Order: sequence, then C-alpha cells, then structure tokens
Amino acid sequence: MNLEHYIGGAHVPSVSGATFDALEPASNETYLTVAAGGPEDIAAAVAAARKAFTDGPWPRMTGEQRATVLRRIAAAIESRDDRIAALECRDTGLPITQARGQAHRAAHNFRFFADVITTLGEDVYRVASAQLNYVLRKPVGVAGLITPWNTPFMLETWKLAPALAAGCPVVLKPAEWSPASAGLLPEIMEEAGLPAGVFNLVHGIGEEAGAALVEHPDVPVISFTGETGTGQVIMRTAAANLKTLSMELGGKSPLIVFDDADLDRALDAAVFGVFSLNGERCTASSRVLVQDTVYESFVARLAERASRVRVGSPDDPATELGALVHPEHYERVMDYVRIGVEEGARLVAGGSRPADLPVGNFLSATVFADVTPNMRIFQEEIFGPVVCVTPFSTEAEALELANATRYGLAAYLWTNDLRRTHRLAQSVEAGMLWVNSQNVRDLRTPFGGVKASGLGREGGRHSIDVYTESHIVHLATEDMPIPRFGAA
Ligand code: NAD
Repeated sequence: MNLEHYIGGAHVPSVSGATFDALEPASNETYLTVAAGGPEDIAAAVAAARKAFTDGPWPRMTGEQRATVLRRIAAAIESRDDRIAALECRDTGLPITQARGQAHRAAHNFRFFADVITTLGEDVYRVASAQLNYVLRKPVGVAGLITPWNTPFMLETWKLAPALAAGCPVVLKPAEWSPASAGLLPEIMEEAGLPAGVFNLVHGIGEEAGAALVEHPDVPVISFTGETGTGQVIMRTAAANLKTLSMELGGKSPLIVFDDADLDRALDAAVFGVFSLNGERCTASSRVLVQDTVYESFVARLAERASRVRVGSPDDPATELGALVHPEHYERVMDYVRIGVEEGARLVAGGSRPADLPVGNFLSATVFADVTPNMRIFQEEIFGPVVCVTPFSTEAEALELANATRYGLAAYLWTNDLRRTHRLAQSVEAGMLWVNSQNVRDLRTPFGGVKASGLGREGGRHSIDVYTESHIVHLATEDMPIPRFGAA
C-alpha cells in the first residue's frame, strides 16, 4: 500500500519522489510506503489552499452552508468507522476497542463544530444611539495543522473541523509514525462535497514537511499538537512571520487521592487514566499522589490491578493495552523504566515485556511507588504505560507536589471534602481539572494547558477564535464631535 499527498483535489507523489516507511507496532514490519513531503510539496499545497481562500466559495459561504458539508463529512466518517478503527489499530498499536471510540469521536468533532458555527453570533457594542461597533469574524486564511501520532485521526479532526467551520482552507501535516488513517480523509472530503483545494494533506517528516509549513509566509495560523520541545522550535520559526499559534503540548498530570475519597472509584480512574490509549495520552494521570494514611493499601491495589491489565495484540477485542507506536518510542519508554529503577523508585508492577509477546513494542502496565519529586520519572513525560506513585500527608503538601513539574495540562482530584475541592481547584496549576471523575470531555469547554503544556485554548468557540480574526467596525449613527484642528 502506498500513500500520497492530496493537493488541490489530486493525489500526488512528492516532487522529489522521496518516500518513508511506516511500521506496524505489533511486529515492527514495514507495511506502508508514504510520500515524504518537502518544501516544494508544502508550497504546492499552500498555493492550492491560498487559491481556495482568495477565489473559492468556501470562505464566502454562510455558516449554515459550511455546516451542511461538515455534517456530511461526519456521516462519511461514520460509514467508514470499522475501516478507520482497523487502520488506526494497525498503524498506532491502539487496542481495537479503543480505536473504535476514536472514530466515533472524530465524526462527533465535525457534527459539533457544525453546530458551533451555526449558533455562534458576532458581537455588537452599541453606544446609545450615537455609535454602533460591530465585530466581523473573518477566516484568517490558510491554516497549517500539525498533529501527533497518538489518537491521530481524532486529533486531526479536532483541528480540521473548527478550521473548516471557520472558513479556512487547510494544509494538514500528520505525524510520520501514524499516517494511515489520514489517508482516508481525501475520499471522505470528496464524498461530502468539500470544494477542491480546501483540504490539502502533505505527509512527511516533521523537520522537513512540518518545518516548511511553519516557515511558509502564506500560512498565518499554525495549530500544533505535540511535544513541548517541538512547540518551542515552532514558536521560534513562526516568529519570523508573526503567526497565530495554538499549542497543545505535553503533560505530566497528577491524580490526587485524599483518604476521604471513594477509593474504589479513584483506583478505577487511576488505572484507566494512565493505561488507556497505551498510556500515550497527553492528559494521562501519570503521577498518582496518595495521602499517607491510605498510601500502602492504595499502592498494593494499584499494583495488583496493573498486573492484570491485559496486554496483547492490538486487534484482539480483549486487549486493554496494545503495542507502543514505534520501536524508537518503545526504547525511550524502556529507558525510563531503567532510570526509575536506578533512581531508587520501587517497581511494584510491570517493567518488562510480557513473555508471551516476544516481538513488537509491548510493555506490561508499570507502576513505580515511592517516587520523589527530584526523580526524572516524576518530572519528565514518559508517554507510555508507566505511572509514578508518591505519598503526601497534608493538603499543602499535595498541592506542592501537584505543581512541582514544568507541565500544567490536566489534574484529577479525588476527595469528598467540598471546601478542600474548591481550595485546590483554584490553586492547582493546570488548564483542566476533573473532580471525582475520569477524563470526560465536554467539547464546548476550553481545552489546553498552562506552563510547558501549551498556549491558547481549543474547544467550542475557543477553537473558532484560533481560525478567525475579529474585525471591528465603528459606525457613527449620529454626528460625533470631531475636534476641528486648523479650523478658523
Ligand atoms: P512531536 O512533537 O514529535 O510531533 C508532533 C508533530 O510535529 C508531528 O507531525 C511531527 O512530524 C511534527 N514536527 C516535528 N518536528 C517539527 C518541526 N521542527 N516543525 C514542524 N513540525 C514538526 O510529538 P509526538 O511525539 O508526535 O506526540 C506526542 C506528544 O504530543 C506528547 O508530548 C503529548 O503530550 C503531546 N500531545 C499533546 C496533546 C494536547 O492536547 N496537549 C494531545 C496529544 C498529544
């Protein structure tokens, strides 16, 4: 199977003819050859998108007209949900049951933003009867979308849907470790009747295709999801053209358990929060902070549950934890397991490849206890099925530990003390906090992080803000006083 770029409504190879191989994480065998885009391919895609912006119908349609197409895109995704889930499962190593959920969420993203764009108003500021100030929301231009390999199809659509809803033609650069499901987008867009040139797709390596997209002067906005380090490189490059940036970056999110919480549910949430999606999840609850009064018993139960998480072939419906995306990433995660042991953390579950899975990127659900804030495994994003557990005694100590990393994406709090909940909710350094809940998304709410976890928010109208300019018109409806400089 070969994957090409999709530019101006046509499937095309790279101008240079270059390709790269995609590996199947369960076997590490090559199963896909993909066009490797460079600056020339990005230039062609941006030119097609720019033409769609300046001359095409898409930016000029009403929100309702665009919403009709977005709803057809959602239907086209749903009619392929088994295929999308199977591709995603093979390409990323996600368990098939979890890959299915991602295809549903992708369709929902388009339906949701169809609703947002048809219900979103534009503001008017009236100054008595003398002046009317009204805001026009205008699509900002060609949007550059750069996405990571974890839950790729869902995250690509999380950016595509609002960008298209806002009227922006797009150039999407999917992650090179998970290109397969994006390969279905051209036929989906065509079936839905999206005008040619509005959706463009360039595959390729980040430092080549991704960097060229960020550098291109005709792309005024970049929405990026990926590692913090990559985000920093992109910000530096984007400064040359003063681009609008939306940055969804890494995380090391705490899950704080007080002894008055429903400990059974907190345990379920802790296990699911870090081992679902193979632990390759930006909002993973990868640091579990537990009050000392219940610490030992919680650690023992967490270890016992982790040891029973079913690791297996991604396409087996019984599998809970599949294969990590790529051998390089697998080595990185395994290095962290070694580092944790060397740093003196107590390995209480997992830490190695399951004996019955000799090939592929498999790691048992791994739990480190007695992790201290000075350890690298406490501070650094591992992005795999590895959780660190740390005890605390007081609320103040819990807060200090929760805030003791450079990240600030999500946090999870388990307590039944109402006043404590509100105190912590206001002082935890995180863009998002879930209280007595697992990570359930409401697409209207602002999604994003603080500190090294990102800049800006996406979700609901916040996403539309990324892809539109607010253009204010000041209109005098009566004669306003005008100082008469130079008058006789
Ligand atoms: P990554 O930063 O390596 O790559 C992300 C994308 O950027 C890929 O498409 C890659 O090709 C591209 N890229 C790489 N270098 C580039 C450059 N110099 N210029 C332009 N583009 C470049 O990230 P990843 O390893 O694919 O994804 C995992 C990371 O994503 C984790 O840190 C995770 O926390 C983060 N993430 C964050 C969120 C969120 O919403 N905050 C969601 C999912 C993943």
